[in-house]
Amino acid sequence: ALREIGDEVEVDFTDGQTRRYDLVIGADGLYSKLRTHLFPNAPKPRYSGQAVWRAILPRPAEITTCTMWMGPQIKPGVNPVSKDEMYLFVTEPRPVNDHVDPATFVARLRGLLEDFSAPVLKTIRDQLDDNARIIFRPLEGLLLPRPWYQGRVVLIGDAVHATTPHLASGACIGIEDALVLADELARNGTVALALSAFEERRWERCRMVVENSARLGEIEVGGGDKDEHSRIMRESHAALVQPI
Ligand SMILES: Cc1cc2nc3c(=O)[nH]c(=O)nc-3n(C[C@H](O)[C@H](O)[C@H](O)COP(=O)(O)OP(=O)(O)OC[C@H]3O[C@@H](n4cnc5c(N)ncnc54)[C@H](O)[C@@H]3O)c2cc1C
Repeated sequence: ALREIGDEVEVDFTDGQTRRYDLVIGADGLYSKLRTHLFPNAPKPRYSGQAVWRAILPRPAEITTCTMWMGPQIKPGVNPVSKDEMYLFVTEPRPVNDHVDPATFVARLRGLLEDFSAPVLKTIRDQLDDNARIIFRPLEGLLLPRPWYQGRVVLIGDAVHATTPHLASGACIGIEDALVLADELARNGTVALALSAFEERRWERCRMVVENSARLGEIEVGGGDKDEHSRIMRESHAALVQPI
């Protein structure tokens, strides 16, 4: 429980302790309990109708940068993560978010790559076996309308702007939140001014990431306009390299 008392927030913890703080920052992710506590009418995480498969694999020499292939509805991609390894991601439309038995992961992921003729994807498909560390993840998103704070309690990261990973920027914008919040707290004389300035600086950039990522997913699931997909990718990355 949280109570604002004068210039402090009193916090009751589950272990029975009670403490007071100048500021409480909620960074408890997509299913944030603090968000529900502060804003009971906040939207709930929304399933996007798309899931992503990922696996860490040996990196062929020709894979030196993030590379994607656009099928009609399936989008495989690879991303180098070290000298010897890369990670594979494959997005798949799944209208219903039902349970997928891990025992079927290898066969399903291989099946998704079946129709792609790129030699590197054929090699990857052959490499997938029971040793591949495959992760399956249904994609959800959430954008909390402003405000992102109440009194001396503020939410950051996925708690307020959980994005699908189409721009690979969810964690990045969460880290930016922390930097900007620290900056505004140092710059402003009161917590109220700092939180207002924080929200003002973060809203548009985070909204853009969540909404553009969601649109990219819609285009992929619906077999939509590839030119619109490229344009959104281009414009979003141009916006993301701007100073925060
Ligand atoms: C498939 C996929 C791929 C992604 N790829 C990328 C990418 O390439 N680049 C990128 O930048 N981002 C990516 N992201 C997004 C990124 O993972 C998230 O945006 C980021 O992890 C959010 O960080 P966070 O700290 O806000 O929340 P989280 O990482 O969810 O952390 C919240 C923490 O709070 C804890 N917590 C929650 N409730 C409680 C509680 N009641 N008590 C105590 N602790 C609690 C949780 O255990 C967790 O440790 C991807 C996401 C997905 C799903």
